Parts: sequence; structure tokens; C-alpha cells
Amino acid sequence: MFRLAVIGQPIAHSRSPAMHRAAFEALGIVDEWSYEAIEMAPEQFAERTEALADAGYVGANVTVPHKRAALEIAERATDVAREIGAANTLSFAGQIVADNTDGPGLLAALPKSPGGMRALVLGAGGASRAVVWALLREGAAVEIWNRTSTRARALADELGGAAVEEISTSEYDLIVNATSVGLQASPAPSGGDDLKALPVVADGFHDRQVVVDLVYGSDETDLASAARSRGANVIDGLEVLVHQGAESFRIWTGLAPPLEAMRRAVRES
Ligand code: NAP
Repeated sequence: MFRLAVIGQPIAHSRSPAMHRAAFEALGIVDEWSYEAIEMAPEQFAERTEALADAGYVGANVTVPHKRAALEIAERATDVAREIGAANTLSFAGQIVADNTDGPGLLAALPKSPGGMRALVLGAGGASRAVVWALLREGAAVEIWNRTSTRARALADELGGAAVEEISTSEYDLIVNATSVGLQASPAPSGGDDLKALPVVADGFHDRQVVVDLVYGSDETDLASAARSRGANVIDGLEVLVHQGAESFRIWTGLAPPLEAMRRAVRES
């Protein structure tokens, strides 16, 4: 059996196990490959992950709050993981190899290359690092807004782009929400209130924009809903999740990921 896992805390909500199992089924390899969710506290991460490698696991996805630690425990890291400064994909092939598919996954989810676009990234946390890295690499002009402005400045100093405090929603070709605003604390939609935590205004969205909301849940986020209703091309967090998962799948199995089966699984789980 080739064993895989997603490691995080909390992890019970993760759709990655359903997504990867659907991929194994679609390719007829479900009897050889498995994928499970493993909850780990930060203080256990290094020791327990190294034990997985010793126990014959092939690899793992790593999510909040372990992405930086995943890079630190790796014996080797790809340029992508090193440049982003975090890893979401580990492979255990004799040594622990760290990779990052969050940035490539975002790019794969976009309708076209963001090269030449004026882009606004909301947030300066872990997800934002991969987004800023990916957009800059493709040649977008990146502006970073964050609630805590010092963190936006620190991220721009480290990776590039410009930190901004005042923005005009309509002026961007691409807007990516990489904050956790919109994560549902309750099942009910918040009726548009989430936008108040962000600098964008609903009436600023228009039909020549691409708007990505990394946050996903059972309902569309207020941001995605406001942008979609004004004609923007909206990419939701599940679509980005599918593409980062597909890139990880390719790294571990060497097989072409069955995107449609993976997409169906995350939307139904
Ligand atoms: P993180 O490192 O904890 O960063 C959280 C970010 O959200 C920070 O920039 C923080 O600003 C901001 N924020 C939190 N509460 C806010 C509020 N009330 N108002 C304004 N800003 C607020 O988290 P992360 O790992 O970057 O993840 C961010 C989101 O992306 C999560 O919802 C995660 O599930 C999602 N995500 C999705 C995918 C996908 O594949 N779809 C992949 C990765 C992450 P401060 O610096 O001011 O605290």
C-alpha cells in the first residue's frame, strides 16, 4: 500500500482525503493508494512526521499551522518551496523532500496567465506568501493589503510587490482574497457583512476582473457573491484546492491527476 496523509490542526474539516480517494478510484488504483487525515499539534509535528516517513508513507500534504515547519524538517526543498518559504507537500523517498503546490495551484486555477495584470492580494499570512510569489513570478504588478499593515510591508520587502493601505476596487484586473475573512463560523451566510473587514467595495467589482477567494465553505463567500453578481470571473477556494491537490498528486504518483473526479469530490464532500 502507498500511504499518503494530510497533516494539520484542526484537520477534520479537510476535503483533501475525499478528493484524493476520488482520484485513486477514477484511475483504478484505490487498492494500492490510501490518503488519510492526521491531526497533529505543532509541538508533535517534527517527530511524528519523521515517524510517518520511517513507517513507509510515501508523502503528505501539510496545512495550517505546519507549513513553515514542514520546510524546516525537510532534508531537501524545491526552489518553489524555498522561495515561498513554506511547504504544503512532502515526499518521503529516502529523505524528506519539501515542495509547495499552493502557488502553482493558484496559477492553474486562473483563466489565463496574470502576466501584465494589476493584482491586489488581500492578506499577508501563509496563503498570501504563495499567492504573491506566484503572481510576481508570472509578471503581475502586485499590491498587498493587510489588516495589520506592518505585515504587508514585511511581505513586500521579502518577496516583492508593494504594500498598500488605500485601494480602489475597480482599478484591479485581479483581486485575490488570501485573508481568512469569510471562513464560516456559523452555517448562515453573513449577508454581506464580511466585506466590511476588507478594503474592497461591492460596487467596485466589474466584468473585466478576475476575483479569487481562497476561503471556502458550504456557502459562497460574501466577497465571491458580490463580485459574481457584478459580472466578475470568480474563482472560488475549492477550485484552487483542487489544483493544488492535483499538483501534489502528480508529484507523488507520477500520474496525470483526474481533475474532474477531484473537483466533483470536493464539491460533494
Ligand atoms: P493565516 O496565516 O492565519 O493568515 C490570516 C490572514 O487573514 C492574515 O493576513 C490576517 O490579517 C487576515 N485576517 C484574519 N482575520 C481578519 C479580519 N477579521 N479582518 C481582516 N483580515 C483578517 O492564514 P492562511 O494560512 O494565510 O489562510 C488564509 C485563508 O486562506 C484561510 O481561510 C485558508 O483556509 C485559506 N486557504 C485556502 C487554500 C485553498 O486551496 N483554497 C489554500 C490555503 C489557504 P492580520 O495579519 O492582520 O492578522
